[in-house]
Amino acid sequence: MVLSNFFQPTLDFAKQLDKEDNLSHFREEFYLKPDSIYMDGNSLGLLSRRAERTLLESLADWKEHGIDGWTQGNHPWFTLSEKLGELSAPLIGASPDEVIVTGSTTVNLHQLVATFYKPEGARTKILADELTFPSDIYALQSQIRIHGYDPDTHLIRVKSRDGRFLEEDDIIEAMADDIALIILPTVLYRSGQILDMKRLTEEAHRRGILIGFDGCHSIGAIPHSFSEWDVDFAYWCNYKHLNGGPGGVGGLFVNRKHFGTNPGLAGWFGSRKDKQFDMEHTLTPAESAGAYQIGTPHVLSLAPLLGSLEIFSEAGIANIRQKSLQINQYLMNLIEHELADYGFIIGSPREDVRRGGHVSLEHEEAARICKALKKNNVIPDFRAPNIIRLAPVALYTSYAEVWEVIQIFKKIMAEEQYKIFHNEREVVA
Ligand SMILES: *Cc1c(COP(=O)(O)O)cnc(C)c1O
Repeated sequence: MVLSNFFQPTLDFAKQLDKEDNLSHFREEFYLKPDSIYMDGNSLGLLSRRAERTLLESLADWKEHGIDGWTQGNHPWFTLSEKLGELSAPLIGASPDEVIVTGSTTVNLHQLVATFYKPEGARTKILADELTFPSDIYALQSQIRIHGYDPDTHLIRVKSRDGRFLEEDDIIEAMADDIALIILPTVLYRSGQILDMKRLTEEAHRRGILIGFDGCHSIGAIPHSFSEWDVDFAYWCNYKHLNGGPGGVGGLFVNRKHFGTNPGLAGWFGSRKDKQFDMEHTLTPAESAGAYQIGTPHVLSLAPLLGSLEIFSEAGIANIRQKSLQINQYLMNLIEHELADYGFIIGSPREDVRRGGHVSLEHEEAARICKALKKNNVIPDFRAPNIIRLAPVALYTSYAEVWEVIQIFKKIMAEEQYKIFHNEREVVA
C-alpha cells in the first residue's frame, strides 16, 4: 500500500496498518508501559529484553571470572569494542574495522577533530552550521582555541534560511579556500532534515577539505553508506534510536584511507591488540578505527548494545527505514487532518529522502502542550523555544498508538488543557 496516496483518519485504518506491519513482533521485545505512549525514542531509546539480557550476562561474567573476564566468559571485554564495531558496521555502511564503539559523542568528536584538524597555510578554519547541537559547537570552539585561533573568526557557521533547514547549496558555497575541516549533522536534531551526505562529501573533497558527520539522529533510523560516499569520519551516540541505554558508549567511523593517521588524543586502548600489554612507552596504534580509542572501555555501558544490535540485525535497517517513513508519514497525515485548526506547523521536511526518524511540530505554546501531553501519559520531547518532537519508532511504536496520540493532542487543544501549565521548559527538556 502506498500510504501517501491512501489515508483514513480512523482507528480501524490504524489497526489495519498494524496488521500489515512486518516489524510489529519486535514490539514485544521492549519494556513498554501499558498505560503510556512513548514518543521519545529519538532522545532515549527504550530498554529491550535482549539488551537487558546481555547486560546481565556481562555482570555474570564479572561475578564468575573476575579479571579473566577480559578474555573469557560470554562477552570477553578486551575485544568488546571491536566486536560492537563489527556489529554496528552494517548500520553505517562501512567495513567492520572502520568502526569502533568507544567514548561518547562529544569525546569522539574531540578525538576526531584532534586527529584530523590540521590547520596549514591559509587553511585554518572549521565549517559547521548554525543549527547544530550545542555540544558539537563547544567542542569545535575549544579545539580551535587549543590551536591558538579565535573561534569567532575560525568557526564558520552556515546560516539557515528559515531557522529549520540547511540548504546544501549554501553549505557548498561556504566551502572556501580557508576551510580545513567540515563537521555537519547527518540529520538535524530539531527539524529532522537529512543532509545529502554523498553530495557534500564529493564537494568537500573536490576542494581538498576533509568532512566528518555527527550521526546521533540517524544511526539506527536510516541507512548510511559512509564507505561508498567516501566520508572521512563520523561519530554518534548509541542511546537514541539504537536503544543502547542512558549514557551508553558511543561509536565512531574512520575511513580506511586514514588508517595509520596518529590519534590526536592517544591512549593505550588505541594500541594494536597484540602490542598493548607489551607496556612500551611508544604507542603502536591499531591499523583500524580501534586506534582512536583512548582508555579502558566502559564495559557495563557497552553490554546492552550487544542485545540491541542483534535486534537491528534481525529486523534489517532497510525494513526499519521503510516502516519509519510510513509511520512518520501517517503521523503527518493525521496532524494535518485532525489538528488543522490549532496553529501547528510541521517543521520537518515532507519529502522522504530529506526526512529522518522524527517529526517536529512547532507551536508557540509548545512547552506547556508537552506538559499537558505528559499529564495524559504521552511522552514527547520539547526543544526550546517552540518545538515538540514526536518519534514513532519502527521497532516499537504502533500505528494505533500514533492515532491515540493525535486524539489526545486534539482534546488538549480543544479543551485548552495546556493553559494550567507555565509555558517554559523543565530542567531536562
Ligand atoms: C544527543 C546528541 C549529542 C550528545 O552528545 P553526548 O556526548 O552523547 O552527550 C551530540 N550531538 C547530537 C547531534 C546529538 O543529537
